Amino acid sequence: MHKILTAVAMSVSTVASVIIVPSPVAAQDTQYAIRHIDGSLYRWTAGSYHSVYIVHDEGIAVADPLSAQAATWLRGELARRHPNKQITHVIYSHSHPDHAYGGEALDDGDTIFIAHELAAETWKLNQANVRMPDVVFYNRLTITLPGAGDIRLDYWGANNGKGSVSMLFPQQHALHVVDWIVIGRLPYQTLDGYDINGMISSTRAILSDMSDKDFSVFIGGHADIGTREDIEFYLSYLEALHDGVLRGIIAGQSLEAIQNSLDLSNWSSLKQFDAWRDANIEGVFNQLIDDYYVTMRPEVPDPG
Ligand SMILES: [Zn+2]
Repeated sequence: MHKILTAVAMSVSTVASVIIVPSPVAAQDTQYAIRHIDGSLYRWTAGSYHSVYIVHDEGIAVADPLSAQAATWLRGELARRHPNKQITHVIYSHSHPDHAYGGEALDDGDTIFIAHELAAETWKLNQANVRMPDVVFYNRLTITLPGAGDIRLDYWGANNGKGSVSMLFPQQHALHVVDWIVIGRLPYQTLDGYDINGMISSTRAILSDMSDKDFSVFIGGHADIGTREDIEFYLSYLEALHDGVLRGIIAGQSLEAIQNSLDLSNWSSLKQFDAWRDANIEGVFNQLIDDYYVTMRPEVPDPG
């Protein structure tokens, strides 16, 4: 889950006379971009949201549609760049509507929509207006794309939303994960909708399951593109955050006391560190108490 949008690039003229500088987008609109990754794999961006697509011999496979507006923009771009290619697959990363809405705009008729079982179940139960998947899976699904290799989807357990999966592109040496691995930036504010324990265990599982041969480029659903080392740095932050807050709760410290004393300065190079550090601590504090019942252990005192 992630709601902030990056500021739209504005053309500013310091010349006093009236000069109208053409802007690629209207001022209130989301800023869009496409960036080449490797081979026929691309990252596409709508504001602070990223998704990916890959061109293959028989069409194009797209990950999250992001929104009706974003998906409509992408459909137009793909039609212009690859006029003879249909969209063959749409692959949902997880259940959250701020990534999953808008799939209809990418539906070319024969397009196969794919999601994790738990995401599909959630949309059905909560009556979400998502283009429902034609194919669901649980642990792993491998899609073979003619001329572009495979896409390997893996489920690592609960971490953010329902049915969050990783997308590995072995031939392009790229890994795409949305929301629960974020590199170059702190995780989002108070971690609403996240599961800190699951974020740690899922990230550890990916790092132990996948080697440098599997991927050299990581593409986040938000924030930066990076490497395995960036994921390791992110994991070390999650571990220090979790362990520090847990230690504080077990010692009977209040939220404020933990926020004032926990040293996370090793990770101060991450974007939003100053703005979101306290919120991250608050989120983990609340999860450990509300979701993991740490203060219901007889040996743990009530928070001060
Ligand atoms: Zn998000």
